Amino acid sequence: MRVAMIGTGYVGLVSGACFADFGHEVVCVDKDEAKIRQLEAGKMPIYEPGLDALVASNVAAGRLSFTTDGGAALANAEIVFIAVGTPSRRGDGYADLSYVYAAAREIAEAITGYTVIVTKSTVPVGTGDEVERIIRETRPDADFAVVSNPEFLREGAAIGDFKRPDRIVIGTDNLQASAKMQELYRPLYLNQAPILFTSRRSAELTKYAANAFLASKIAFINEIADLCEHVGAHVQEVARGIGLDNRVSPKFLNAGPGYGGSCFPKDTLALIKTAQDYGSPLRIIEAVSAVNDFRKRAMGRKVIAACGGSVRGKLIALLGLAFKPNTDDMRAAPSIDIVTALQDGGARVRAYDPAAMEQSRLLLTDVEYADDPYACIEGADALVIVTEWNAFRALDLDRVWMALNEKVVVDLRNVYRSDEMEGRGFVYASVGRPTHLNPVFERDGESGGLDTAWDETLFVVPPQAAE
Ligand code: NAD
Repeated sequence: MRVAMIGTGYVGLVSGACFADFGHEVVCVDKDEAKIRQLEAGKMPIYEPGLDALVASNVAAGRLSFTTDGGAALANAEIVFIAVGTPSRRGDGYADLSYVYAAAREIAEAITGYTVIVTKSTVPVGTGDEVERIIRETRPDADFAVVSNPEFLREGAAIGDFKRPDRIVIGTDNLQASAKMQELYRPLYLNQAPILFTSRRSAELTKYAANAFLASKIAFINEIADLCEHVGAHVQEVARGIGLDNRVSPKFLNAGPGYGGSCFPKDTLALIKTAQDYGSPLRIIEAVSAVNDFRKRAMGRKVIAACGGSVRGKLIALLGLAFKPNTDDMRAAPSIDIVTALQDGGARVRAYDPAAMEQSRLLLTDVEYADDPYACIEGADALVIVTEWNAFRALDLDRVWMALNEKVVVDLRNVYRSDEMEGRGFVYASVGRPTHLNPVFERDGESGGLDTAWDETLFVVPPQAAE
């Protein structure tokens, strides 16, 4: 099938390359000339494992191309995807739909013949109606249907998610459009990926509800982690204890510095706004969003506490800047709030991230960047693990000890074992686990201390699933 993809960002580029890999003829359109030039030169504008090879092979096979001028591609396409950004509208939390509506106008002017227009961007319920209205108004003669097909891929695991999705949601009540969408996704259908046909509004809301639910799980376990620190419990044991229940599942129960990224923060906010506008407020999601916002900066205070209450004049080394491993995406990353809190406290910050330093330079000021983890730590007064890249999971702890000026390690991803770190003499803080920094729990005059028979090896937690 002939497919045009408007917007060649994380979602548009990955989806476009995967559809081409299924055998479709795909043109990816973007108004960012530098991005298109880069892609034409074989360079990826984003860091996503496996993407460069996938793009290269499909370009070589003549199934994938890039352009800034969508005119011809849109005119030829049987299916046009809208995969442009829907960021938070500055100041009020609503989804900014200006890019989606601009794309709808461009589509209206260019399409010929029957065209299925598919919103892949995450858009508030009812946006499909407005896209349809815009196209109908601009081109009363056009033959088209507007479908919602939200995308659930995760950055860092995007190609696998696209090719082996848990489900595909297609929102339309138009039979012709639904047949075209089945043909498009046929290779996945043959792989028995569940394809769920819903109304357009249900599909739009499903995406937001899914992200809000996952964000709630993270905020929930983070609050349980805080409670663990007060009562002398271990959040990984608690998470495992609840996660083994099939109704709960163990995923998204890893305590940490709060969720970030290009989706959860903005999507929870946009959903809250939609719900308020319809007079059906989502109090739980409002709390989730507020809890998460508070938490990111609180992680800065956690570092300051581990440093003895002040970081003034100290050098703090951060390992990891991206909001999660295997991506260079810095949008709403907890590292931004943590760095700001530390700088506000008078600290100097040095950082290392395997992929996100270029993006970080655009967002954070007065941060020194190192070439590798050990250069980052050298002479620092504390090491803070912010993102659980594999490269930080097996640091040479003797080298870390030698490199650090003050032997303080704040592990916001619970990568290391507290007994081992404390056994080596580090001042070690983590999230929701008993350490000597938070050993005493008291209630009604009763008090206790660290359980010396602690054995974390019994509770091995697999590497954190990408969010
Ligand atoms: P992005 O910012 O990486 O990419 C959007 C691209 O659209 C940019 O390159 C921009 O230049 C381009 N663009 C904007 N208007 C255009 C126009 N009129 N014509 C051509 N190009 C145009 O965004 P993204 O992360 O890919 O997200 C896109 C959508 O998918 C959002 O709604 C997002 O919420 C949703 N989504 C994102 C993810 C993710 O992991 N990033 C996952 C699922 C869903």
